[in-house]
Amino acid sequence: MYDRNDTAGPESTATGGQPNEQCSVCEHAIETTEWYPIRGQVEDVNFSLYTFCSEECLETWENSESNDAE
Ligand SMILES: [Zn+2]
Repeated sequence: MYDRNDTAGPESTATGGQPNEQCSVCEHAIETTEWYPIRGQVEDVNFSLYTFCSEECLETWENSESNDAE
């Protein structure tokens, strides 16, 4: 017995438009119409972009990255 699944699931699929950015630290949604911190990092041969909702999260990320060395 299968009901029609009309309700929005936990993962709402974006239909067109720009994908919403998410903070790489706290996963908070980022208002892309305003300035937000962003960092790029090369991992192996892949270039990854990290976005942050605030400079605090950027600092948190940078600290965790430097602590990760070794
Ligand atoms: Zn954040």
